[in-house]
Amino acid sequence: MSSRDEGAVTTPRGSGVRAGDVLARGGSRIPADEAKKQILRLLDARLSGDATERWFKHMQLVAEDANQVTVLVPTETHVLWIQENFMPELTHALSQVLGCGGRPRVLAMNGAAGGQLTMLEEPKKQSRAKEVASETLAKSLKSAGLNPLYTFDRFVVGGNNQFAHAACKAIAAGVRTAYNPLFIHGGSGLGKTHLMQAIGQDILKARPESKVIYLTCEKFTNEFILAVQKGNLDSFRRRYRKADVLLVDDVQFLTGKEKSQEEFFHTFNTLLDGRAQVVLSSDRPASEIQTLEPRLVSRFECGLTVALQPPQLETRIAILGRKMEEWEVKIPEDWVRFVAQRIRSNVRRLEGALVRIATYNSLGQGELSTDRIEDLLRDILREEAAAKVTIDTIQKTVADFYDIRLADMTSRRRPANIAFPRQIAMYLSRKLTGGSLVEIGEAFGGRDHGTVIHACKKVDQMMQTDDQVRQTVAALGARLNR
Ligand code: ADP
Ligand code: MG
Repeated sequence: MSSRDEGAVTTPRGSGVRAGDVLARGGSRIPADEAKKQILRLLDARLSGDATERWFKHMQLVAEDANQVTVLVPTETHVLWIQENFMPELTHALSQVLGCGGRPRVLAMNGAAGGQLTMLEEPKKQSRAKEVASETLAKSLKSAGLNPLYTFDRFVVGGNNQFAHAACKAIAAGVRTAYNPLFIHGGSGLGKTHLMQAIGQDILKARPESKVIYLTCEKFTNEFILAVQKGNLDSFRRRYRKADVLLVDDVQFLTGKEKSQEEFFHTFNTLLDGRAQVVLSSDRPASEIQTLEPRLVSRFECGLTVALQPPQLETRIAILGRKMEEWEVKIPEDWVRFVAQRIRSNVRRLEGALVRIATYNSLGQGELSTDRIEDLLRDILREEAAAKVTIDTIQKTVADFYDIRLADMTSRRRPANIAFPRQIAMYLSRKLTGGSLVEIGEAFGGRDHGTVIHACKKVDQMMQTDDQVRQTVAALGARLNR
């Protein structure tokens, strides 16, 4: 372990602890790097294989007081894994070295969590020159707010994200594109942060002199408010307006904050005028961010907008395969398939399920039945069910498929070329959303539940007699379930 990994203990203001020190038993002090070394040694004695190396090498300790220690680790996956597997050992090691009594908090220090970042993976035996170069890179990634684990290499490309990925790669390659700003939107856990961070890293690796800044919109807003309060707006502006590449994550949080929106608008204009690259992400299209000023919406949309969709089954399997390689765990293929089939809407959730099952597997507790897996993943599956297909998406998908207007799903019009797709949409809503007959009737322009029952019966009957109807319903179902 090199020395740059250590000395990373941070201490909150007012705790009376000097930065670089942590509290040790009896109130005496111990240098951060020494504390970390001792903790790693204790963990290593208790954990098997290279678990200490893999899960704890990058940790940073924050001593809040003698009884509360926070352990910062690189990603949410590390948090999950440590919480599932190593809490007793970690608690024990901390109490031995620091004398703290309580359970430690384990938190991710990824960019989104506020910019305290991790270091690069340990370079394997390399020359001094290379070491210096990678140290410099690690420093600049850190000060740009980038997590070294979010690289293009680690991003699995599939039909759902191909276009977004290609746009991000083009920007990272420094191609002066019309993609300015690039606006990435998509649901939670679909890789927005990962892609934005990958752009920043590639640019810094290729052109270390560039000024790259990644931050969440929330951080931008908070810093802005603080700058106003402290009267140092100038330096705030200088910092952001001299960026070559500004990556702002989760801009949906700008909603309602008038002064921050104004500031953001000007920063944004200054950067675009100066030909700096701007990349934004949001969990929804700009036009659907409520109370976002129209001038910002149109600014956000004046470059290129790309959407991330949930990954298809093959991509979900490929992602699980990649994560198993990265974490050096292996679970049987049947289980991989089961997880990929059941968790469709969020890669973060997919990772969580894999951690859970790999942990079970590593404890050698034997075969997993479907019931047992469902039990093990109960809360994750429950979250997934809540994110299931909605009547809204069914109406959109069916209208799109039959090339009719969305409004016809709720209209009173009765021509067969409209009425039949509407009945199929009602049928699918009944099968896929768990909505009641009354809810479904409501969503289809306030029809009564008898109409929904009739539609379901009719589609059922037709599926038995008409191959084409059966195939159409199957194709729509597959499209919705991806
Ligand atoms: P978002 O910002 O859209 O909520 P993140 O970028 O934080 O999502 O992704 C959540 C987790 O899923 C991260 O650990 C990320 O590495 C992983 N992830 C998302 N998409 C992919 C992908 N296509 N390939 C590999 N990992 C992915
Ligand atoms: Mg994110």
